Amino acid sequence: MVLSTFNGIINIMIIPKEIIRSKRKSIALVVNSDGELIVRAPYYASKDAIIGFIHEKQNWLERKCMAVKAANSKFHPITMTEGDIVKFCGEDYTINLCAIDDIILFGVYIKIPLACSCEQFKMWLKRKALALMKKRTTYYATLMEVVPHEVKVSEARTRWGSCSFRNNINFSWRLVMCPLDVMDYVIVHELCHIKNKSHNRAFWASVAEVLPDYGQQEKWLKNNRKLMEIL
Ligand SMILES: [Zn+2]
Repeated sequence: MVLSTFNGIINIMIIPKEIIRSKRKSIALVVNSDGELIVRAPYYASKDAIIGFIHEKQNWLERKCMAVKAANSKFHPITMTEGDIVKFCGEDYTINLCAIDDIILFGVYIKIPLACSCEQFKMWLKRKALALMKKRTTYYATLMEVVPHEVKVSEARTRWGSCSFRNNINFSWRLVMCPLDVMDYVIVHELCHIKNKSHNRAFWASVAEVLPDYGQQEKWLKNNRKLMEIL
């Protein structure tokens, strides 16, 4: 936030991170996943018109930016420290370091060998992700009568899933941290791409045929994108 003058009045204003000009006809304010303001404006909109619009929406903007930043604060990098919280299938597990050989889930705890590094923990999550995603993909593929060519998990941080031209399906292993209904949505989404590679109306109708409430899971993924960055 900075002090700015508008109509001679000094105000505290949230400054935009970026102003994207286009052929659009009106100004729109978007708060991105980092809680930063992005302004979309017509080519002809003056600086004063943009500042005026931001002032008008000031209260809404402050609430929105703070809500996004507060939601993000729950995502911090995993450091393999006793008591640290990690997510597995959408549930919170507390790290408990102990003299054991293998990682195990035990009630609300995830018991981890003392010498386990972040990288080894990541490999364990990746193995779990592959087994889980393969099993659930097989279930939905049978239900939807489609056949993916190959199912793999990847290191992707920018997208949760993808389906290639040859129907090779890739899931970000980080999906293993998301709730099961969210995993299922990404699976169904990619399986629908076997018959339809675009995101047109028919595509979304085919997703809704299997998961009528998929909007909820889409929203969850949008609000929890930061999960991609913690490990
Ligand atoms: Zn898609």
